[in-house]
Amino acid sequence: MGMFANIKKFFTISITGSILGDRSKWLIATTALSFGFLGNGLLLFFDLINNGSATDPNRSILILLSTIASLVMLLLALRQYKYIIPIAFCLALADSTFFIIESGSIRYPTTAVFLTYIFLSAIFFGHSGIKRTTIFSTVVVGILSFAEFTGLMVPHIGPITPTPVLMYILFFVVMGFLVNYFFGLFEISMNENKKLTAAVEQSSGSIMIIGLNQTIEYVNHRFSDITGFSSEELIGKRPRDILNLKFTEAQIIELWATLKAGKEWKGETPITSKSGQPIIELTSATPLKNDQGNITNYLVFSEDITERIRSEQTIKKANLELTEQLAQIRSLQKELKEQTLRDPLTGVYNRRYFDEIIEREFERVQRDGIPLTIMMLDMDHFKSINDTFGHAAGDLVLKTVAKALTDSIRPFDFCCRFGGEEFILVLPGLSPEFAESRANYFRQIIEKLTIPLDDQTIKITASFGIAITPDHATTPTKLLHLADEAMYRSKLAGRNRVTLWNPQLS
Ligand code: GH3
Ligand code: MG
Ligand code: MG
Repeated sequence: MGMFANIKKFFTISITGSILGDRSKWLIATTALSFGFLGNGLLLFFDLINNGSATDPNRSILILLSTIASLVMLLLALRQYKYIIPIAFCLALADSTFFIIESGSIRYPTTAVFLTYIFLSAIFFGHSGIKRTTIFSTVVVGILSFAEFTGLMVPHIGPITPTPVLMYILFFVVMGFLVNYFFGLFEISMNENKKLTAAVEQSSGSIMIIGLNQTIEYVNHRFSDITGFSSEELIGKRPRDILNLKFTEAQIIELWATLKAGKEWKGETPITSKSGQPIIELTSATPLKNDQGNITNYLVFSEDITERIRSEQTIKKANLELTEQLAQIRSLQKELKEQTLRDPLTGVYNRRYFDEIIEREFERVQRDGIPLTIMMLDMDHFKSINDTFGHAAGDLVLKTVAKALTDSIRPFDFCCRFGGEEFILVLPGLSPEFAESRANYFRQIIEKLTIPLDDQTIKITASFGIAITPDHATTPTKLLHLADEAMYRSKLAGRNRVTLWNPQLS
């Protein structure tokens, strides 16, 4: 038993680390086992000081100490405390196996053992196992041969018994398998953690974790990006304080009541960035529970919807403006249409409108089986009004007459200015007698008009002609013609009167 056995042990066990894969684990395993080596170094020291015997009672204690040291180092490196027992078991197995091998007089493994080892590694650990085991075996065999050659190591004496060889092989297999298995578990859990951390850190949504005391415990990069606050500035603060949450006290109470009841809270949260910019976030806050079902934290996931809200508002505003403009355009269009249909001087319908509606009215009364009266009226001696009072006064008279007529007709009657000082009234549903009496009524209204002009008053009369469909004519043109004819008769008969057309007139 000597220094070389410990070197051998160091290399042999560190290979289990290398079998596992990446360099970091190799380093961890190596570092851990180097502590074991240190322990065995002390053991050697005691052996030498005492009697060079491997049977010193301190040996077992030192092995234990070195094992514990290895274990602590390993766990510190991995920070996976729950695997303390399986790892302790593995290391204890390693040390005790070596002890048996050494006491079984095997000083170093033979080439056959190494080959077996490579073969078994291939079975258990696949391609990478072969590669690493081959490298390792070559190095160890090389060192051992060199040591023997230079006399550093006493060549092996005595026969090799099968038991330690088998145990040695068994050791590699069991150790490799166990350590591989546990490191595999580490790897999974470490990768899971890494994956989760990376997912949270790099999430495009902002994530915040709040403690039970309602202060921030964690924020991800995105959260800092959006709010402008670094995680150092945020951690330990209440979100509503540092982020200037624009919630009423009642809203905050409702939020916390929901969360404390273990339910998810969702809503829009208006906050303020570090630079004072208003931000609107769509937030979902969820209580996080431990295995016992108690709430330990609150997870807040937010999405910045400021731009969305802003553009929605802009679109809404633009829509409103457009609707208003459209209404304006429509009313302008209507006005314009009205204007084209109305006489600019008097405001009553013009001849164009008359032409437009008369056909329609004709069809309607025919369909409904009701009569339609056309009254044509022409101002009497209008020329002399113009001559006496001036053209402007004539205009005023026309306006006054038009207003008097429109005020006197029913809502479904029409009054049109047909020409210079001629008007037409279209009145559905009147009997000839009633039509005549209505015409007289209008005539009297005009007759009674007193139109003040400076210090004088203008008086005016009109002559009326009436024709009715279907009694007198069945086409608008004919009816109009007959009304004109009747009006002409009124003029002839002395003006300011009403003539109902009758066949004797023709
Ligand atoms: P009568 O009783 O026979 O109808 O005589 P009258 O003078 O009214 O004759 P007539 O109907 O032929 O004359 C129409 C006059 O109306 C001619 C024109 O000077 C006048 N007049 C036509 N349009 C306007 C108008 O828009 N404004 C004014 N002030 N006068 C108009
Ligand atoms: Mg005339
Ligand atoms: Mg006239």
